[in-house]
Amino acid sequence: SVQFDPYLYRKDFPILETIVHGKPLVYFDNAATTQKPEAVIQTIVDYYQGMNANVHRAIHYLGETATMAFEEARQKVARFINAPSARQIVFTRGTTEAINLVATAWGEKFISAGDEIILSEMEHHSNLIPWQILAQKVGAKLRFIPFTSEGVLDFEAFEKILSNKTRIISLTYMSNVFGTINPIKRIIRMAKDRGIPVLLDGAQSVPHLPTDVQALDCDFLAFSGHKMLGPTGIGVLYAKINHLENMNPYQGGGEMIQSVWLERATWNEIPYKFEAGTPNIAGAIALGAAVDYLSAVGMKNITLYEQELTTYALKKLAELDELVIYGNAPERGGVISFNLGEVHPHDLSHFLDQQGIAVRAGHHCAQPIMRKLDIAATTRASFYFYNTFEEIDYFVEQLKEAITFFNP
Ligand code: PMP
Repeated sequence: SVQFDPYLYRKDFPILETIVHGKPLVYFDNAATTQKPEAVIQTIVDYYQGMNANVHRAIHYLGETATMAFEEARQKVARFINAPSARQIVFTRGTTEAINLVATAWGEKFISAGDEIILSEMEHHSNLIPWQILAQKVGAKLRFIPFTSEGVLDFEAFEKILSNKTRIISLTYMSNVFGTINPIKRIIRMAKDRGIPVLLDGAQSVPHLPTDVQALDCDFLAFSGHKMLGPTGIGVLYAKINHLENMNPYQGGGEMIQSVWLERATWNEIPYKFEAGTPNIAGAIALGAAVDYLSAVGMKNITLYEQELTTYALKKLAELDELVIYGNAPERGGVISFNLGEVHPHDLSHFLDQQGIAVRAGHHCAQPIMRKLDIAATTRASFYFYNTFEEIDYFVEQLKEAITFFNP
């Protein structure tokens, strides 16, 4: 058993003390967004109280202080994913914006009519719609790696759709519905053999698994600050230098330019070429604080502890005959989607909320998964390192109450 004490960290998260309908909060909606430790909240307050100024422009004390803190955050993020250089960290609003950036700025330049884009059937809408828009614009074709009844990607099918027409593969590292950790190392190796770039949607993986972009050898990695203790409205696109150099700008405006004439302009150096307008300065600095916090806890510790928690939860849930769990991948993270017979997930999550338990009910921004499973929605419990075995016991007890109540 891992020596990991979640109670040591829980006291850093003021919101975890919340009483909901008279019951202590059990927060199991971490795949949607995680809670924030005091260190992150305080960083935002400190920024606005003590260093608020616009970055990269001002030659005054506050402006220089804010710029230094903003750039230091970029370095922290670079170290966190072992990026060779902080120039490869583009701050975005989140995963969604990072993927749209690539689909637009890289895609419109390098993908044309007849080319193929490989995605999987288990993508979040934010790794699907940007590619649909691109494909429609340039006349490219989307191909999909199917998933099996276990919620695992069908590797043989992938080998069949991989071809000399494939221009990019864009895949989720970890499914936000099944919890599946996809075999991306194997996929990247096969892509590399053919010179095909790979984008990883790291929204669910970066918060929970140690990430080394050099070891992974991915071309692009997108992730969101708010799913890893940081604030909303800040996220990251990591990319290899040559892609960033070769890509078009994404949005035009201040900051992303070098010289401007009335009829034309030249672009700023990377990563600023992709950061038009005043960025989310406080958000980036607070993401730096989040990354510091995660590093202090230790990403390996987080992965191992969450694995124990998830194995324990799955074992206890398997004892409930009325429960159908979607996804049974051998390698998985702490995301569990399920249904209780015919009980609507909204009704179940409302029942659980009355007991203080926050879970998610819906299609989880992955409607094609729901269609393939022929269900409208699921209930989803998702864990983080501050969750406890006691919370899982309570959750399972309350599910038993729900079974008695709904009698599915
Ligand atoms: N991809 C996956 C796998 C996700 O789980 C999410 C968030 N639910 C996103 C992308 C989108 O992230 P954001 O809304 O922060 O841009």
